[in-house]
Amino acid sequence: MKIVDIRPTTVTVPLEAPLRHSNGVHWGRFVRTIIEVETDEGIVGLGEMGGGGESAELAFLGLKEYLIGHNPFELEALRFKICNPTASLYNNRTQMLAAIEFACLDIIGKKLSIPVYDLLGGKLRDSVSFASYLFFRYPNEKSGLGKVETNEELIQHALDLKEKYGFTSHKLKGGVFDPLYELECYKELAKALPDDSYRFDPNAALSVEQSIKFAKEIELLNNDYFEDPTWGLNGLRRVRENTNLSIATNTVVVNFEQLSQNILNQAVDVILLDTTFWGGIRQCIKAAAVCETFQLGVAVHSSGELGIQLATMLHLGAVLPNISFSIDAHYHHLTDDIIKGGKMEYKDGKMKIPNKPGLGIEIDQDKLGEYSELYQTLGGYPYDRDYKRPDWFPLLPNDRWAALT
Ligand SMILES: [Mg+2]
Repeated sequence: MKIVDIRPTTVTVPLEAPLRHSNGVHWGRFVRTIIEVETDEGIVGLGEMGGGGESAELAFLGLKEYLIGHNPFELEALRFKICNPTASLYNNRTQMLAAIEFACLDIIGKKLSIPVYDLLGGKLRDSVSFASYLFFRYPNEKSGLGKVETNEELIQHALDLKEKYGFTSHKLKGGVFDPLYELECYKELAKALPDDSYRFDPNAALSVEQSIKFAKEIELLNNDYFEDPTWGLNGLRRVRENTNLSIATNTVVVNFEQLSQNILNQAVDVILLDTTFWGGIRQCIKAAAVCETFQLGVAVHSSGELGIQLATMLHLGAVLPNISFSIDAHYHHLTDDIIKGGKMEYKDGKMKIPNKPGLGIEIDQDKLGEYSELYQTLGGYPYDRDYKRPDWFPLLPNDRWAALT
């Protein structure tokens, strides 16, 4: 079998409300590049990549000459063809490799009439648990609804999500307001749902000293872990030496070089694997095997997914023996998806692993067209800017916190 074409389509899908984070805002929508990889046997594989609010269509089209004629079964060859580590010093294609790997796995599964998880060792569970992903949010520009800023709004948001989707663990994305305010919010949240577990992630915006103080204040709560409180392996190591909380990262252990550093001189306890950041589902499985060997915790990071990427997270979650925590997804903030049958559904905080051949999802071409047109109308946006604070940019550690309204 040979790849004969690759078709990238940029889409933008609205969020319920703009999501605030330490570097800026998801401006009320996600921008994703959907790829369709076509083969000479007529089988089409699906892939997806995000890009900080920008399109990656041209970058994928630029890879056509590398991919035409490639046998999609040859996944390791694919890695070296487009992502050789020394060539990557000049062309960082890890995330593109991931999207193409998703599509090739989808093709192989469809060709053999088996789900992707069966290509990856077989599923160990039928569903995967998710954490709610709580953000401070600006109100929806049109409806004025969806704002999350006060303690009461945050708790109500968590209660609503729990009722609707059944989450029993909750992740609060911080790094927006003064850490003392966010500490208060986190504690109140934990008090409001005392049987659930929690994780706080300020996207590395705190100093080492602020992180240690924050950690001491929350040590008695039911924490899953403290995620990226500060920047860098050395910063995280200093925090870890001064707290009994597990420290997690999705920012500074995102490749094998960094994973080895964390084993030689440990800075974090839990690695959040990301099917895009690591260059594909298979790279995540390899990393999880290293974590199993060294007894590091494993969870799954969300980089803001539509249904195709979500399916890759589900297949990953299905096959990892050592997934130690519920996984993250922004998915519940989305108003729609580009896959047939509409958004995938949560039940009791879990999502079923797709059982159909390949990734187990199909593109709804009408939706793809609709959200591609929406992208043509709205364009991209800078993920690391806040449209309500145009002159603002954060420092690391940050001291330019957002004002409460
Ligand atoms: Mg994170």
